[in-house]
Amino acid sequence: MTIPREQVMDKVVALTKRRGFIYPSSEIYGGLSGFYDYGPYGVALKRAIRDLWWRHMVELRDDVVGLESTLMMPEAVWEASGHLQNFVDPLRQCLGECKKRWRADKVLGEKCPECGGPLDDARMFNLMFKTHVGPLEDRASEVYLRPETAQGMFVDFKNVISSTRVRVPFGIAQQGKAFRNEITPGNFVFRVREFELMEMEYFVRPRQDDEAFDYWRKERMRWYTDVLGINRERLRMYDHPKESLSHYSKQTTDIEYEFPFGWGELEGIADRTDFDLAVHQEKSKQDLTFLDPETNERYLPWVIEPAVSVERIFITLLLDAYDEDVVNNEPRVLLRLHPNVAPVQVAVVPLSKKQELIDVAQEVVKSLRGQFRVEYDQTGGNIGRRYRRQDEIGTPFCITVDFDTLTDKAVTIRQRDSTQQERVAIEGLSARIGFLVSGARR
Ligand code: ATP
Repeated sequence: MTIPREQVMDKVVALTKRRGFIYPSSEIYGGLSGFYDYGPYGVALKRAIRDLWWRHMVELRDDVVGLESTLMMPEAVWEASGHLQNFVDPLRQCLGECKKRWRADKVLGEKCPECGGPLDDARMFNLMFKTHVGPLEDRASEVYLRPETAQGMFVDFKNVISSTRVRVPFGIAQQGKAFRNEITPGNFVFRVREFELMEMEYFVRPRQDDEAFDYWRKERMRWYTDVLGINRERLRMYDHPKESLSHYSKQTTDIEYEFPFGWGELEGIADRTDFDLAVHQEKSKQDLTFLDPETNERYLPWVIEPAVSVERIFITLLLDAYDEDVVNNEPRVLLRLHPNVAPVQVAVVPLSKKQELIDVAQEVVKSLRGQFRVEYDQTGGNIGRRYRRQDEIGTPFCITVDFDTLTDKAVTIRQRDSTQQERVAIEGLSARIGFLVSGARR
């Protein structure tokens, strides 16, 4: 069904709260702007996103290794990387009634978008959160919460090349929290102040960046469509013009999604050249060059970086999957999530509370658990209501145990999108579900 795009965000926000995906942080105390908590289904969805990224970026490849570096890093790192000076947004404050602060590059004209009051002159605002390590709150104890995970990969570059057998071209991947004191968090979890980045630095020979850049643009787009099942028509590539590039970038392509509020960045793929390794080599006075065993040359590799947050993918998946239709003359809400990411892949529902059915249903759950994300759903009223609850959280398959099951040793699989049902022997159930989950295409 076509739902007016401007309504989709409100509907998704309401669904995530109602069904336990996302709650405002510290809500009983009034919340904290730009921070969110994740409920049971939200956690399952986030974990699926993270696992699929790791699987495709690291485990299924032989040229990428993992890293976990710390969330807090000393000032020297951020001074060298340019973040102290350049990780800034222009800030303008309303001098009228509402006193709201705005990102100057996102405000058109001279008036406050909220109350129409005048705006003050733009000043630069650094987005990094600062704190102190140790008991003394002096200059020497200042550290920053990382606004990106990438610097960990550069700072540990020497450790990785000397402790593993990696050879250029290779990548270092990292997932972990990042913090940005965004001036205007908003559009739900699209722009938040605490989020989880997934970044991979792919090191290549100097000036061999174009080919790798092109490869990663295509490969990342393929991941969104084929692995996460995001609608291709709502995705596009946006190549940044030279004047809007970050301080470290030679070329950047964003994979954009058509959000209800317009096209917006889902993932950024940046060609960082040898900018980062060069500045850290200079500042730390450590040799960060790579000795190529084939040519015996020493060089600072160049680097291509695909970077995306779990939260951006999360909101994109929900907006892309949200739908409403009518089944048996009853309206229903459903999330057409790809089985790869669905928080619950299979729900097992006994038709009634009769003990014989419950016993079989629990056996079925046991046989599927560990292979799939399974939920046992005995409560929640009649079977139709339980199906609709599962539709709303995006469960692609419901397995119903009914009275015939006791004699024919078979169950019904009901598909979320088509509501089609098929009878399957319990014996072959796990193979059938495995086929449906992995073979599913929208
Ligand atoms: P903008 O200019 O929109 O503030 P940026 O271009 O500085 O963002 P990048 O540094 O390219 O953002 O961030 C890489 C990725 O991290 C983005 O593509 C997005 O997926 C994610 N991201 C960045 N900022 C946020 C945020 N505040 N909340 C959630 N995800 C974010």
